[in-house]
Amino acid sequence: MKVPLLDLKAQYLTIKEEIRSAIDEVLESQIFILGPKVEELEKSIAAYSQTKYGIGVSSGTDALLISLMAIDIQPGDEVITTPFTFFATAGVVARLKARPVFVDIDPVTFNIDPAKIEKAITKKTKAIIPIHLFGQCADMDRIMAIANTHGLSVIEDAAQSIGAEYKGRRAGSIGHLGIFSFFPSKNLGGFGDGGMVVMNDEKLFGKVKILRVHGSHPKYYHKIVGGNFRLDSLQAAILSVKLKYLDDWSHDRQKNADEYNQKFKTSGLIEKGLAVPPRAIYKNGGDKNYHIYNQYTIRTKKRDELQAHLKNNAIGSEIYYPLPLHLQECFKELGYRRGDLPVSEDAAGSVLSIPIYPELTAEQRDYIFATIVGFHA
Ligand SMILES: *Cc1c(COP(=O)(O)O)cnc(C)c1O
Repeated sequence: MKVPLLDLKAQYLTIKEEIRSAIDEVLESQIFILGPKVEELEKSIAAYSQTKYGIGVSSGTDALLISLMAIDIQPGDEVITTPFTFFATAGVVARLKARPVFVDIDPVTFNIDPAKIEKAITKKTKAIIPIHLFGQCADMDRIMAIANTHGLSVIEDAAQSIGAEYKGRRAGSIGHLGIFSFFPSKNLGGFGDGGMVVMNDEKLFGKVKILRVHGSHPKYYHKIVGGNFRLDSLQAAILSVKLKYLDDWSHDRQKNADEYNQKFKTSGLIEKGLAVPPRAIYKNGGDKNYHIYNQYTIRTKKRDELQAHLKNNAIGSEIYYPLPLHLQECFKELGYRRGDLPVSEDAAGSVLSIPIYPELTAEQRDYIFATIVGFHA
């Protein structure tokens, strides 16, 4: 049996007709840049993520960049984030000649460890970018409390976490700005690049909107320098179709994760050092915690051997992420050394994401589980 890490074709086939007619509608209209399809998506994503405003942009990376521009990040400013994330989170900080300051992660959620944030704050600190990695929210109450005490902005990198909830609140709605990515492998993936910025603040909304079109307002008059950060109509039309199914897909991912977690727990592999990603972390009365499992990421000391074993059995897997950002060559000047952020470094050496996509069949799930058990036998 063959199981890829992600099977986008399987999902496409379930909504093919609807997608084709949405595309046709855009072709008939010949409106390709922004326009009504983008506005419609902005409204529905804002509502979906419990925010007042949404602004469609060219990618998740550009959503982060434009958010930093909107809060006026200047050269030399410091922005706190973690080194255990996709490169874009820190790359955008460096592109503005600001300085990414890396704080270590919690070993269970892989998200920023709030207990370590305050030590990293200096006079130059302007913002915190918590990442809701793999679909699990960072501990936002504690992060917001620290940010408020020190007057910092918070940009939620929810690129992997659209629809995830933290104590009943949606990812992206808790910080000053939130960003999503519509990269094809994200839970809400387009047929190309795309992203969105969400917020409740009207001033930030106005600024991001102007920055998206070269800072132009009114047209051809520029008080600030922006860029071309626009989302196109075709992507928006496709995403609006897919948004209707997002909750079902996320539920199926959770069901798959619950099944894996249950099976691994009864298999005895946890005692042998295998760690699985829990669903509920922030228990707070009856409040919900809603992991949407963009990735199902296990941990084991024998990670590389396990990955080779899966590959030999035609099962796809991926290491997100093999080298933490503080050790990347392009950030050499920041002066970090191996050993500075041990929890992130340890995660980089032990994580493995295995297939979790909603269309996985029971046979495929059984096969994956049996193959992992076989490896440990
Ligand atoms: C995917 C991703 C991004 C960037 O999104 P793109 O749409 O690929 O530019 C940023 N941050 C995280 C955590 C991501 O996973």
